[in-house]
Amino acid sequence: MIIAVDGPTASGKGTIAKALAAHFGLPHLDTGLLYRAVGRQVFLSDGDPDKPEDALAATSFPDALLDDPHLRDEETGGLASRVSVHPAVRQALYERQRSFAMQEGGAVLDGRDIGTVIAPEAAAKLFVTASVEARAQRRFLEMRERGVHVTLLEIQDDLRRRDARDRSRAVAPLVPASDAMVIDTSALDREEAIAAAIDAVKSRLE
Ligand code: C5P
Repeated sequence: MIIAVDGPTASGKGTIAKALAAHFGLPHLDTGLLYRAVGRQVFLSDGDPDKPEDALAATSFPDALLDDPHLRDEETGGLASRVSVHPAVRQALYERQRSFAMQEGGAVLDGRDIGTVIAPEAAAKLFVTASVEARAQRRFLEMRERGVHVTLLEIQDDLRRRDARDRSRAVAPLVPASDAMVIDTSALDREEAIAAAIDAVKSRLE
């Protein structure tokens, strides 16, 4: 069984995907990490994330980079969003995601285009969303816990910029698959969001 979980940054899709994987006993891939690794590699090689050839070269990042704590940084998220607009980058990362999805027994993948491009045949597709305000507030608390100083307004601006880029790109834009179940987590806490997701997947499997 393949479960596709898509949605914008800080919508709660990562938490939901991990919980679904644990609940249904499936392996999980956070595909955002792959794009973050490409963004980070461009930075480490002094490349230009907006240049398709620099971004493509960075897709052959070493696997060890996936454990780099800087992948979680906001700057890396911004770089990831820039390299991910290049069709050649998406193509280069396709096979890795596709084979993860197709492994025997199934898998849970979260990202932006899992239900539309990577695994359109997924048994259950969730589109997890939340208001910019709710997402910014969560990101703000998370960052404060990590000792990073940014204002709520800066986070909101950054989220809006990244949403606009992810939604308007020509290839694999962030849109819900026509058969996705939408979960708005704006007013839900962690446990409520997870419960809603498990219920949604179960309802699709029945
Ligand atoms: O989900 P996360 O914030 O880690 O993703 C970082 C960036 O990578 C996103 O803003 C998006 O531009 C890109 N991405 C993508 N397709 C995916 C996963 C992430 O374009 N499947």
